[in-house]
Amino acid sequence: MHDWIVIGGGITGISLSYELQKAGFSVLLIEQHQHLQGGSSLGYGGISYWCGTTPVTQQLCQEGIARQRELSNELGMDTEFREIDLLLTLEHDADPEAILAQYTNCVIAPTLLSAQEACDREPQLNPKGIGGALLFPHAHINLDSFVAAHSQAMQKLGGEIIYAKVDRLLIEGDRLVGVATEQGEFRSNKVAVCAGAMSRALLRASGIRSRIYYTHAEAIDTEPVDLELRSMVMPADTKRYQLERATNIDQDSIWDIAGHELLPPSVDAGAIQFGDRRIRFGQLSRVLTDPYAAIDPIQSEAVIREYVSKILPKIGDLKGKWRNCLVSFSRDNLPLVGSLKEYENLHLFSGFTSPTVYVPTLSRRFAAHASGQIDSIIPLLSPTRFGNSV
Ligand SMILES: Cc1cc2nc3c(=O)[nH]c(=O)nc-3n(C[C@H](O)[C@H](O)[C@H](O)COP(=O)(O)OP(=O)(O)OC[C@H]3O[C@@H](n4cnc5c(N)ncnc54)[C@H](O)[C@@H]3O)c2cc1C
Repeated sequence: MHDWIVIGGGITGISLSYELQKAGFSVLLIEQHQHLQGGSSLGYGGISYWCGTTPVTQQLCQEGIARQRELSNELGMDTEFREIDLLLTLEHDADPEAILAQYTNCVIAPTLLSAQEACDREPQLNPKGIGGALLFPHAHINLDSFVAAHSQAMQKLGGEIIYAKVDRLLIEGDRLVGVATEQGEFRSNKVAVCAGAMSRALLRASGIRSRIYYTHAEAIDTEPVDLELRSMVMPADTKRYQLERATNIDQDSIWDIAGHELLPPSVDAGAIQFGDRRIRFGQLSRVLTDPYAAIDPIQSEAVIREYVSKILPKIGDLKGKWRNCLVSFSRDNLPLVGSLKEYENLHLFSGFTSPTVYVPTLSRRFAAHASGQIDSIIPLLSPTRFGNSV
């Protein structure tokens, strides 16, 4: 019998498991895949610690970057953390002042660069493909290394990991007592659901509604290449965030009916290079309510290449492998963190936008809160903040 079962071993689940174990709880992490396939297997790993726009998110940004800077040392294994430039490209006909206005409340202000200044910083950029760029101080980790480092450190502290699919929550009478998997039942005092986009379906299988939504994301991974990309490149007018905001989540129940495409697909042309010289570029996003929807990889790959080639011509031509995954989000850009109303010992820890910034610090705060310490931020993120009107 464990104190906590954590479901899902992506960056949220592994970080939370480590912090709970470090706080003195006994933790069993249950992940379905030996090789991750969710958002953490395809994310760029950029840390947007400049993005906080409210006193709470600004505080979490400061804590988040401080935590990321110290984690390799604390975990005894390299997360491949590094400081890096972020260049957010502007379209030719974009109004720089209007785009800048989208970033005015951010905790760190961007610098507006001309197309030539942006290309001087990042020679892979096509000067004719952009109207300029916003420069932010940014940071980066390799998500695989982040997961591996936490996994090793958590197990060194006595935590356990098993690979099995959780089929349902184990309810006895009116109490949650653990989870049922294909490998049998596991019991615990508390359960944390960190299953990313699949948290919604997993909870629904036990009759629990959660306000988690998701996009289908697609990107292309190259082998290590000679070409060098110095910065992380993304568009300033990010379509993915617009999709998240525009998705009609007032009709929450539509998400339980497979087969809907709630908005047209969109592409955010961007790329990042990892320490081993692989490049990941993308990203195409779709809002399909079916988490298992089939996507045509050949058509998708051609669209991603077309968009990326306009901004980063040499990168759009690189050989690579198309991949896809789901990425979860919430209705208000804040994660869903805390106890669910159906069972006070059932917790959700998911729906993060910019998880690389917020997850490490909120995992630590969550573990301290679970140990009985008062936390001023955790209660603000409660999944019950949207009320019962689903
Ligand atoms: C192309 C792309 C670029 C991105 N860039 C950035 C970026 O620069 N910065 C940033 O912060 N974020 C970025 N993201 C988003 C970020 O990578 C993800 O949101 C994040 O990794 C999700 O982590 P997670 O742990 O919540 O979910 P996941 O990684 O999806 O993990 C959930 C885990 O739960 C497991 N699971 C699900 N159901 C069950 C079950 N029933 N039983 C057992 N296990 C289960 C899954 O197997 C999975 O491993 C990007 C995403 C993409 C796709």
